[in-house]
Amino acid sequence: MRDRSESRYAAGALSPQRRESDLRRLREEEFDVLVIGGGVTGAGAALDAASRGLKVALIEVNDLASGTSSRSSKLIHGGLRYLEQLEFPLVHEALRERGLLATLLAPHLVRPVPFLVPLPQEAVVKKVWRRLYYGAGVALYDAFAGIIRQGRGMPLHKHLSAGGARRLFPSLREATTAGAIRYYDGQVDDARFVVTLARTAASLGAAVVTGVSARGLVRDAREVTGMTVADVSASGPAATGPAGSRGENVSASGPAASGPAGSRGENTANEWTIRARTVIAATGVWSSDVSSWLPDARVGLRVRASKGVHLVVPRSAITGEVGLILRTPKSVLFVIPWGGHWIIGTTDTEWTYDRAHPAASAKDIEYLLDEVNQVLERPLTTADIEGVYAGLRP
Ligand SMILES: Cc1cc2nc3c(=O)[nH]c(=O)nc-3n(C[C@H](O)[C@H](O)[C@H](O)COP(=O)(O)OP(=O)(O)OC[C@H]3O[C@@H](n4cnc5c(N)ncnc54)[C@H](O)[C@@H]3O)c2cc1C
Repeated sequence: MRDRSESRYAAGALSPQRRESDLRRLREEEFDVLVIGGGVTGAGAALDAASRGLKVALIEVNDLASGTSSRSSKLIHGGLRYLEQLEFPLVHEALRERGLLATLLAPHLVRPVPFLVPLPQEAVVKKVWRRLYYGAGVALYDAFAGIIRQGRGMPLHKHLSAGGARRLFPSLREATTAGAIRYYDGQVDDARFVVTLARTAASLGAAVVTGVSARGLVRDAREVTGMTVADVSASGPAATGPAGSRGENVSASGPAASGPAGSRGENTANEWTIRARTVIAATGVWSSDVSSWLPDARVGLRVRASKGVHLVVPRSAITGEVGLILRTPKSVLFVIPWGGHWIIGTTDTEWTYDRAHPAASAKDIEYLLDEVNQVLERPLTTADIEGVYAGLRP
């Protein structure tokens, strides 16, 4: 538990000194809960457990949010498109969480961002049908979020004429825009959100240590009683020899590549066991590595990675005050205002290479440009792109 004489801010500071003392705790203490993985799932689980008074440790092989959790579309959303798949409970729950985050839990991190659903020029009957169909979806989205404004945390949707749509988004191609519906979702700096969760957990007494790799489960008969881990940070002893260095772990085939403790005869001097009554593997696309440490488990978890790519273009490349959600043959595409930039994404293709370094292909970039250019007055080219990033969905 936190020392009450210390401010919560100071208690959550993840300083080098704090790392040293938390590392000592990982070696000496037994924890109620040990969380592996410092993405949003692991940081959230650690905070949840710590806020219930449990003794918690969180370890992350690289940095907090270094996996998928810093490579997202940065939206706190209910998933408008899931309504079409009739995933009502999922959308309802996500919108309730969005409201809580935007109004109560993290209003300093989650802010409303307006999106247009553009309506294309087409035959009158189709045009009316599409406006009714999309309008019903967006109205349901608002209804699921709660009718009372305060709990919803986002303004209600609004129907716009072609002129109204182009006033908010002048770069929308005039010849193909019949109007739009504006709705709101939440936007967040995903990496900052994870760091905030981890720091809040730390302020409640959790030991949060990056640069520590889980290597294998420690078991007493069938019961998991802890985890064999190694310090792979640049400052840790592991960095002195190439075999166990952080670089090797990451560039081979991902953070958990080294497998069970000592299995490759490396780093044993720097390995130790963290004792814990419960171990939570929040390792995202690396989850099958952890399940391979349980060979006798009935169902082995096999995770396939699906890559999602985003383009980053300067704000000046597109004139608009709001984001866009566009339907594509495969899914949906977002054009999202992000400070002095636009984020355009995403794709959905299988990734079978190094999970620590997903990369965009020329085909991914071409696909995104083709899709977004269908609605833009001035088409974007590769010369407009100032950055590209890719993340992996489990
Ligand atoms: C392109 C894309 C866009 C997305 N957009 C959104 C969005 O807008 N909104 C939204 O809500 N969701 C979005 N998502 C989904 C969301 O990003 C993910 O669900 C979320 O980030 C998953 O978090 P995680 O903690 O489970 O995994 P990760 O963030 O990948 O974290 C797993 C962590 O475990 C660590 N790890 C692995 N093995 C070990 C080990 N052996 N020892 C120690 N540490 C280990 C890794 O280093 C990693 O940091 C998007 C996903 C993608 C791919």
